Amino acid sequence: MSRYDIVFAGAGHNNLVAAAYAARAGFRVLVLEGASRIGGDTTSEELTLPGFLHDPCATAHNLIQSNPLMRNNELELDRHGLKYLYPDPVFTMPFLDGSSITMWRDVERTCAELARFSPADALAYRQLLADWDLMAKVINDERASAPIPPVEVIARTMASPLGEKMQSIRDASAIDIVKERFRDDHVRAFFAWIAFMTLHPLDEPESGIMAFSLAAGRQRFSWILPEGGSIRLPLALARDIEEHGGTVLTSKRITRIAVEGGRATAVKTEDGSTYEADRAIVSTIHVKHLAGIVGEQNLPADYLAGVARWQPNLTMFVTHYALSEAPRFRMADGLGASVTMGALESLDAYTAMLSAFRAGRIDLEEPVFLALTPSVIDATRAPAGKHTFKVVSFLPYELKQGPEHWDTIKQDVSNELFERLSPLAPNLSRSIVMAEHVDSPLDLERRNSANWRGSCHGGANSPEQSGFFRPVEGWSSYRTPIEGLYQTGACTHPGGSVSGLPGRNCAEVFLRDLGSSLDEAVSGTRIAAS
Ligand SMILES: Cc1cc2nc3c(=O)[nH]c(=O)nc-3n(C[C@H](O)[C@H](O)[C@H](O)COP(=O)(O)OP(=O)(O)OC[C@H]3O[C@@H](n4cnc5c(N)ncnc54)[C@H](O)[C@@H]3O)c2cc1C
Repeated sequence: MSRYDIVFAGAGHNNLVAAAYAARAGFRVLVLEGASRIGGDTTSEELTLPGFLHDPCATAHNLIQSNPLMRNNELELDRHGLKYLYPDPVFTMPFLDGSSITMWRDVERTCAELARFSPADALAYRQLLADWDLMAKVINDERASAPIPPVEVIARTMASPLGEKMQSIRDASAIDIVKERFRDDHVRAFFAWIAFMTLHPLDEPESGIMAFSLAAGRQRFSWILPEGGSIRLPLALARDIEEHGGTVLTSKRITRIAVEGGRATAVKTEDGSTYEADRAIVSTIHVKHLAGIVGEQNLPADYLAGVARWQPNLTMFVTHYALSEAPRFRMADGLGASVTMGALESLDAYTAMLSAFRAGRIDLEEPVFLALTPSVIDATRAPAGKHTFKVVSFLPYELKQGPEHWDTIKQDVSNELFERLSPLAPNLSRSIVMAEHVDSPLDLERRNSANWRGSCHGGANSPEQSGFFRPVEGWSSYRTPIEGLYQTGACTHPGGSVSGLPGRNCAEVFLRDLGSSLDEAVSGTRIAAS
């Protein structure tokens, strides 16, 4: 049996962030990961051929850029080899009629793209960015700390520079915002697509802010990605933990969190090991699985009822390709490669995608695409002259025949999607495909149990599963009903994506409970840990 101050269950980037602060605050830290590698949904693997390094899940590391962790370089991850690349163009969106809109790092150049369709829409984009500047602090502050009650959220919003206008933006759906602000159909599709990139259904109430934050975030940081693949973030975090005396172990699936006298005391793993936690256990195990691991009898009925109501998010279908050349997309000045491309023909196509999704139907008529070629900017990801290409579309986990049906149909679905995508990049044909790897929504769940029902953001970010209500009303402070057991990760505020915010927010809470603080961790003031 081994003893630690704090045991971290799962090595996704959020739990690694939390562990890094704890190690820096002087606690004896152990991180246990069930898979054979760390990172969860932020990892990189040779999925197709040797030398082709793919990101099976996340590629863009945008949301973490506004986290004080990165903004203030609190964990000095650059010392551990984390280096970000800023593609230009940010992304391009070709349409089947031969036109295209491209977001460039230079906002003037982006506006010129929009003005080709509608000068008024170019002005509307400037206004959207200006409005976001007036709202960003409220939203970023909210995201970077434990959730506050809805009445306080409203009070802070009303007190913001945009006041009532900001509140009505927050209440609206993103689709309504896009329709209200932009006139041209191509431009509307462009802004709906970017607003959708955290998979929040844009027709839901309270999704309005997505129409601002995603576009402004990409305009500011580009489609930012780590050199060497997504795995560079967890690797840098693990090095920081180890440099500060912590331990990270892989292939340690947790089967039990022991609870004695209402307090979480130890973690047991599949291989029969037990790790005692003298001060706390921090879990990133999906909330749907947590009860089975701590024992339902240790959780109150209202918590269990809240977890029973938990709903998944929209899900992705992903094919990874090793290519002999980079796809070249139609852009205003001719064909060009771009790290990121998007495809959405119209708002109607978006609505059709959501309807099919909600009905559990696979509709491949006008798919919505996100396609990434990181090797365009990052030569470390593929052999010289070759490329990694990831094609994401949005298809349901639940099928009428059951999710297992994906195993029968996934290759055919992937082939059909490839045919649908090809007209947008004339050189994208089977002749440049060297190998491929297909992940259905079911495969994404098999890859990482935290992708419950294929849901890659922990679960839906609907109003009833956001902020004060995430994961369960009354338990959104990262504490759980079990003393000494904390919960972080995508199931907690502010939800999924590579933001590191659930991890840092959770660290703020448990460090305070344990008589330390983030400040102490960051300044390196070590405390007597026991
Ligand atoms: C296909 C796909 C594409 C995505 N693209 C992006 C993107 O480009 N940008 C972006 O911001 N976000 C993206 N996301 C979402 C984002 O990657 C995730 O929301 C985020 O990485 C979740 O991080 P996390 O720290 O909460 O947990 P995870 O990364 O889910 O990690 C949880 C870890 O806990 C481990 N674990 C679970 N149960 C146990 C157990 N019992 N014992 C031991 N270990 C356990 C898991 O193995 C896993 O390693 C994508 C997700 C997917 C699936």
